Amino acid sequence: MSTELNTLQEKSLHALKQSFGYDSFREGQWEAISAVLNQRDTLVLMPTGGGKSICYQIPALVLEGLTLVVSPLISLMQDQVQQLSEQGVKAAYLNSSLSKEEEQRIYKSLGDGDIRLLYVAPEKLLRHYFLQHISEFDLSLIAIDEAHCVSHWGHDFRQDYRALGQLKNNFPNTPIIALTATADTATQADILHQLNMHDPFVYRGGFDRPNIRYNLLSKYKGFDQVVSFVEQQGGNGGIVYCGSRAKVDDLTLKLQHAGIPCDGYHAGKSNDEREDVQNRFLRDELQVVVATVAFGMGINKSNVRFVVHHDVPRSVESFYQETGRAGRDGMPAEALLLYDERDAARIKKWIADGATPERFQIEMQKFDAMQAFAESQTCRRQVLLNYFSDYLGEPCGNCDICQDPPKMFDATRQAQMVLSCIYRLKSDTSAQYVIDVLRGKSIRKIIDNQHNLLSTYAIGKTESDNYWHNIIQQLIHQGLVYIDMTRNGILQLNESARPILKGEKTIEMALPRLSVSAAKKNKY
Ligand code: ADP
Ligand code: ZN
Repeated sequence: MSTELNTLQEKSLHALKQSFGYDSFREGQWEAISAVLNQRDTLVLMPTGGGKSICYQIPALVLEGLTLVVSPLISLMQDQVQQLSEQGVKAAYLNSSLSKEEEQRIYKSLGDGDIRLLYVAPEKLLRHYFLQHISEFDLSLIAIDEAHCVSHWGHDFRQDYRALGQLKNNFPNTPIIALTATADTATQADILHQLNMHDPFVYRGGFDRPNIRYNLLSKYKGFDQVVSFVEQQGGNGGIVYCGSRAKVDDLTLKLQHAGIPCDGYHAGKSNDEREDVQNRFLRDELQVVVATVAFGMGINKSNVRFVVHHDVPRSVESFYQETGRAGRDGMPAEALLLYDERDAARIKKWIADGATPERFQIEMQKFDAMQAFAESQTCRRQVLLNYFSDYLGEPCGNCDICQDPPKMFDATRQAQMVLSCIYRLKSDTSAQYVIDVLRGKSIRKIIDNQHNLLSTYAIGKTESDNYWHNIIQQLIHQGLVYIDMTRNGILQLNESARPILKGEKTIEMALPRLSVSAAKKNKY
C-alpha cells in the first residue's frame, strides 16, 4: 500500500476521532471511504444502523472542497446538519423549508469556503440556478443517500431522483457515492446504471440483523394479537405498522382503551402533531407508535424493541427496512408479521387496479416475493437474506420457524370439513361465516338461513375460531380455495379441491400455531 494511502487512512482515522469520537471504523466503512478518496464511484449497501453516513462524512472532512449530499427527507437533513454542527463540522442544507434570505446566506458561506457538507433535496439539486451556483465551487464528492429511490426497481422510486443521472454529465470528475440499506439485486444494478457510475466499487455489507427475531402469525383478530404481543414486551417500546391511515386511527384508539400508552402517526396529521408524536416516542413517553410507512425513515431511536406489521407490507424491502428500525442498539429485538391471505388478495387487487402497465409487473413481483416470504415454512432469516443475495448457510435459530418448527400432520379430514362447508354454503362464504357454521354458532344469520341444518354445521366445534382460520389460510395457500375479490372476498373452491372432497387424495398441513411463544427467548 502506498504511503499516500496510509496518510489518507491516518487522516481519516484522525477525523473520525476528532469529529465523531470513534476510535475505529466499522466493517465496510474504510473500504468505502478509501475507494472514494481514490476518486472511485462507490455503492454502499449496508443495513440500517450500519454506519453509512460516516462513509461520506469522513471523505467530506479529508478532501479539499465541498461534498454534496442528496437526501430525500427534510427532517433527516436537519437532524444530520444539527448533529454535525454540534460536533464542530460545518454543514448546511438547502430545501424547500428555507426562505430566500436563508438560502442566500448559505450561498454566501459556500462562497467563503466555510461549508464542508451541503445537504440538498433532490428537487432542488437540478434547478438551473443551483447547478450554476454550485459549479463555481470545487466539488469533491457527491453522496446520494437512500439511493434505491433512483430505481424503478426499488420499492420507493421517487421521480425527483430519476434526474440525478445527469449529475455525471455536470460533474464528470467528481466521484459519486451512493448508499442504501435496501436494494435487491436488480435494484443494485439499476442504481449503478441510472447514476451513470463508472467502474464502481461496490461494498455489499451483510444484511443480517441477528438480534432481530422474526415471528409470523396468521392474522386473526389482529387487534387482540397486537395487544397480547405488546403485553409480552414488558413495557418496552415499539412500532406497529398498519396499511392505511384509517387503520392507524382505529388501532390507536383501541390500544389506548386497552391502557397502552400510544399514539398514531401518518401523513394525514399536521406537521406539529407528527413531530409531537415522534418526540414523545423518543422520550419514551409513548410505548407504542401506531403508524403508516410515513413513520420511520430518519427516526433516530436506537432502543425500539419491537416492530409489528399489523398488515403485510408490499415488498420484502419495505418489510426489511421497517423491521430494521427495531434493535438498532444491537440488543435483542422482536419483529412480528400478522399475515392474512385476504390482505394479500386485497393488495393484489390494488396493484392490478392502480398501477400503470410498467409498474404493474414490478409491484406484482415485489409483492409475490413478500407473499412467498410470509408463506414459507423454512427459516425466515434465510428467506429474507436470500432475497438480498446474502446467503446464510445454516438456519438461524432465532426465528419462529427455527425455534418452533412447523409440525406437519395429515389434515385431510380438516380440509374436507372446510371444503364441504364452503361447497354447501355456495356464496355465503366469507371466511368468518364458514368458521361460524363449522363451529356451530347459533347466530341470527345462520338460523335465518337454516344453515344450522347443514351436515357441516358444528362439525368443527372442538377447535377454536383461530384454528379454523389458520386451516383456511393454508387451504388458500395450497391453492384449493381462492378468495374472490370481485365478490367481496368470499371463498370459492378450486378444481383441485374435488379429489380431497371425494377422498381420492390426502393433504398435509402445518399444525396451526396460534400465538407467539412467550416461553421461547430471543437467542441473540
Ligand atoms: P445508517 O445511515 O447506516 O443507518 P448511521 O450512519 O446513522 O447508520 O449510523 C448508525 C449509528 O452508528 C450512529 O449512531 C453512528 O454514530 C454510529 N457509528 C457509525 N460509525 C461508527 C463507528 N465507526 N464507530 C462507532 N459508532 C459508529
Ligand atoms: Zn431461522
